[in-house]
Amino acid sequence: MSEFKDRVVVITGAASGIGEACADVFRSAGATVIGWDLSGLNNCEPVDVSQWEAVHLAAGKVESQFGKLDVLVNCAGVITPNLPAQDVENDDYTKNFAVNVMGVVHTSKALYSLLCKSDSPAIVNIASQAALVSLPSQTAYSASKGAVTSLTRAMAIDWASVGIRVNAICPGFTATPMAMGQMTPELDAAVSRRVPLGRIFQPIEMAHTVEFLASPKASAVTGVVLPVDGGWTAGEPALPM
Ligand code: NAP
Repeated sequence: MSEFKDRVVVITGAASGIGEACADVFRSAGATVIGWDLSGLNNCEPVDVSQWEAVHLAAGKVESQFGKLDVLVNCAGVITPNLPAQDVENDDYTKNFAVNVMGVVHTSKALYSLLCKSDSPAIVNIASQAALVSLPSQTAYSASKGAVTSLTRAMAIDWASVGIRVNAICPGFTATPMAMGQMTPELDAAVSRRVPLGRIFQPIEMAHTVEFLASPKASAVTGVVLPVDGGWTAGEPALPM
């Protein structure tokens, strides 16, 4: 119940979906949670993670209030419309990279010195199964999430010497506003047929994996990119033979 007692946790994208579920899970485990999100809804501080100055300012408030940070969860993300590669606007690449990649860079850099003051610091990045297997008509999003997995490994190596563990999860289809905005009954049925575990997932299932990676139970785990996708990236569901 109190595994994260006295722990300070920053979660980006905490007003909605997977980030909101992470905030609930860490609060239930005793942590003090600071949510950063565009909107400022759901007890979040309004912070646009694509803007270095805004992130730097918000990190300064964490420093003056708490003097340290134990866990950073980089969950804020965007996805642009489904289009075949030849039709994707250059601006869509800019937008995906500004939030999904530079957001992670900004928060990780701005909060680095505070994480160094923790006795058990951890970063968990929310990438996507789209980083591991291609989703049709999502080149810009997939490329940005691929960059998040590379950043995760690179930061894990650079910061191992100061004890900061850096890991990522790659969620499969999860029932959040982002995914359900594109969901139709036909797509739901098709996704459920394609996922070996046979369904789309709930935000809380992602949050529990994030909690594990951020916890002392994962003290030997760093540089890992963990699919949380019901087996999608492991292979095709069994055929009726
Ligand atoms: P969501 O419900 O849309 O939540 C994303 C949150 O990030 C929203 O509250 C959004 O604010 C916020 N955000 C967007 N741009 C931001 C910015 N520049 N600065 C700060 N906050 C920003 O989506 P979700 O499905 O939970 O997504 C969470 C993460 O999981 C994302 O990184 C996503 O790529 C990843 N993911 C999701 C799935 C899935 O199936 N749901 C699968 C794989 C990976 P606004 O709503 O105000 O824009």
